[in-house]
Amino acid sequence: MTRVVVDREVCMSAGVCEMEAPEVFRLDADGVLQVGEPTDLTAVETAVRACPTGALQLVD
Ligand code: SF4
Repeated sequence: MTRVVVDREVCMSAGVCEMEAPEVFRLDADGVLQVGEPTDLTAVETAVRACPTGALQLVD
């Protein structure tokens, strides 16, 4: 099953992924990215491409 991997060393909590796919990505109160099940793959792929630091990766 496809899942999202976050490189937390390079994620800078910009929130672009949350804007592109809010049902999957959410920044918590501490700015830590929470990732749910990638149900809408099209939106998730857009979020992966839009991440300014390249922190997101889709893996099977
Ligand atoms: S867009 Fe990239 S840098 Fe910004 S919160 Fe999402 S994963 Fe982190």
